[in-house]
Amino acid sequence: PPAPVLRAPQHVDIAALLPTPARETDKYARGVLGLAAGSERYPGAAVLAAGSALRAGVGALRYLGPRAVADAVVSAHPEVMAGSGRVQAYAVGPGLDTGEEARGRFAAALDGGVPVLVDADALTLLAEAGPKALEGVPGALLTPHAGEAVRLLAGLGESPTRADVEAERLTWAVRLAAGYDATVLLKGSTTVVADPRGEVWVNPTGTPYLATAGSGDVLTGVAGALLAAGLTPAEAAVAGAYLHGLAGRIASDGDVPCAASDVSAALPAAWRAVR
Ligand code: AMP
Ligand code: MG
Repeated sequence: PPAPVLRAPQHVDIAALLPTPARETDKYARGVLGLAAGSERYPGAAVLAAGSALRAGVGALRYLGPRAVADAVVSAHPEVMAGSGRVQAYAVGPGLDTGEEARGRFAAALDGGVPVLVDADALTLLAEAGPKALEGVPGALLTPHAGEAVRLLAGLGESPTRADVEAERLTWAVRLAAGYDATVLLKGSTTVVADPRGEVWVNPTGTPYLATAGSGDVLTGVAGALLAAGLTPAEAAVAGAYLHGLAGRIASDGDVPCAASDVSAALPAAWRAVR
């Protein structure tokens, strides 16, 4: 097969992907995202992903999860609707947990007939179920870090170590994308995106200050919002990683530690920089 075309997007490429609401738009046209995240053990992941999706232009956000977590999400972000309903995409996984209740939310997201972003604990459930679990999903975006990639690869019968994945990020991202017939955003010090046809992109933004708890949950909110807006999984992945990396640089202001909440709060400035 031909060598994959390696593309590093610039501001202008991302600007072309970002949705601009039409004058006559409404919240449904801008995209409703269903967020299945958070659990009694990890409520914060849902709060971070929700706030980030709201700052990335969703028309509305529906939160799916336990009552106590829904209360935390809504008190942090009163815009959020708790409970199911029509959505244009799902983001599933941050802080989801892997028990019975989590499995139910995971299955419901895959069953919705809309594109799905799969992250964190939902990647563990997907690795267990294997690629057939994505059959019938019209566009899947998987967002593993190297450890989660190792689990997903085990679901394909491959057994690289985490170090192997780190050393050959592009190769393993392409292998995952082909094996799961999904777009894969492999996170880490260099984030790469691979689509199922073997096309790859390398994200040029980011900062090591993004290596902090909750950082991935922010990315899930952003890329999920873009998926709900109608971007393809590859577009949502490339633009989401780019904005997330830029927000990280803004929040860390050259050389200052920041929390994932600060990265989320910097999303409008990142969006402004790209526009
Ligand atoms: P997670 O492991 O799910 O919390 O996601 C961590 C996020 O931070 C991902 O978007 C990573 O790409 C990013 N990240 C982690 N470590 C680094 C690093 N050393 N340099 C740049 N970005 C990083
Ligand atoms: Mg994560």
